[in-house]
Amino acid sequence: MSDIETLKKELPPFEIFDLIPRYAAAGQIDPEKIDLLKWAGVYPQRPQEDGFLMMRVKVPTAELHADALRVIAGISEEFGRGLLDVTDRQAFQFHWLRIQDIPEILERLDTVGLHTRGACGDTVRAVIASPLAGLDAREKIDVRPLARSMEGTLSGNKDFEDLPRKFKISITATPELEGIHLINDIGFLAHEVNGEVGFDVWVGGGLGAVAHLAQRLGVFITPDEVVEVGRAITAAYRDHGYRVNRKKSRLKYLIKDMGAEKFRELVETEYLQRPLRDGPPAPVARFGGSDVLGVNPQKDGLNYVVLTTTVGRITPEKARKLADLAERYGNGFLRTTAFQNMMIPNVKTEDVDALVAELRALELAPRATLRGTTIACTGTQFCRLAQTETKARVAGMIDVLEPLHADLDVPFVINLTGCSNACTRYQVADLGFMGALRGEEEVYNVHLAGSIGQAQRTGTKLKGIVPAERLTEYTDKVISDFKANKTPGESFVE
Ligand code: SF4
Repeated sequence: MSDIETLKKELPPFEIFDLIPRYAAAGQIDPEKIDLLKWAGVYPQRPQEDGFLMMRVKVPTAELHADALRVIAGISEEFGRGLLDVTDRQAFQFHWLRIQDIPEILERLDTVGLHTRGACGDTVRAVIASPLAGLDAREKIDVRPLARSMEGTLSGNKDFEDLPRKFKISITATPELEGIHLINDIGFLAHEVNGEVGFDVWVGGGLGAVAHLAQRLGVFITPDEVVEVGRAITAAYRDHGYRVNRKKSRLKYLIKDMGAEKFRELVETEYLQRPLRDGPPAPVARFGGSDVLGVNPQKDGLNYVVLTTTVGRITPEKARKLADLAERYGNGFLRTTAFQNMMIPNVKTEDVDALVAELRALELAPRATLRGTTIACTGTQFCRLAQTETKARVAGMIDVLEPLHADLDVPFVINLTGCSNACTRYQVADLGFMGALRGEEEVYNVHLAGSIGQAQRTGTKLKGIVPAERLTEYTDKVISDFKANKTPGESFVE
């Protein structure tokens, strides 16, 4: 049994919240319990001996009010040296925190309905909903209430505080858009069968060092069944998932060994005590990226404006200004997207130009260009597992390449990580870079033409590696070659 499995048996992980005030008062964390802080969304940043912490904040249903964003900005400014990241699972991340300040930070988050319970650790992570939920004309159902209910039922629930590994759930009603059901432990995908709206259910998706795309359970469930089925699948994973080797503990390994059909049987017989209805697959995804970029019409005649960060990093000043803009031009709410961007929905058509001008002044203009579709993980700046630098390197690359390739007529997705863990899903990008070390030298493995959209495949890993200093040159060559050989509107995976 691994150390963390032993630790979880010694102290139920969510009880770490009771110890945080004591650690804060003492100004130090019990080193034997430090790994359990993940359950509170907190973990040591690199280098661990300096004692500074990172914190991830969940944004349930990817939607937050301007006041919540102001609180986030204030925390970053007062406690986190002004660093603030939007993550590719639609959360916020702080750095440079001290244990002394964690109780105050948690209290401030609580005042605006945000929390960190289960943001990390072997439990149910943030339940992801499409950022277009309630806005897109193609959706069959607004999934936000279901995502909220799933989050409220499973997240922070003591029944699920000790899972074999992290557990990710997504709920979307726009299957044409994101394809995120393919890379979550459970993906609920709404569609309509004979006039009835229900959900197709996928299990066992996950990236990490070995990527597995999810498999269909073959069921069609009603919206009323979604939370019950989510709970049953999570319980099945808790009881039957592997716990010996943490590298092989995600649900994907159980599904690989058992098969989706047998796993369905297990869920039905042991956890639901009834069979689920069979159902056809939901429509094939057609992810093109531009639906979660730029300015797009909503089903109610208003518009959503997706503002573009550079690799997810914004300043507290800009975050505050975004909160003001959401109140002035929208209905006071903002959303976060899986491209490390943010969105201001509910903007009147006559106000779009003025809002875009304000965003441009903040260097957050909506763009469907490389800046909008390139994401990078935390990397050696703060991550203890990282082997290479990420965000600064990619930001520099985008500064060079964006003007050179402004004529790209389709989104081109670049995902880069600082190690094999795939926090920014390098296996499902047009061009995915996985950071590694060759001796002392930082290099990147290349994965080409992965997609969780229409192609539904992981990228082809190339034999060679790209040294860090040639990353920009290499990327430029790939994009130039693509542009020279493509037909109008043709995507890279095609
Ligand atoms: Fe850290 Fe690796 Fe995850 Fe990047 S992919 S944040 S380097 S663990």
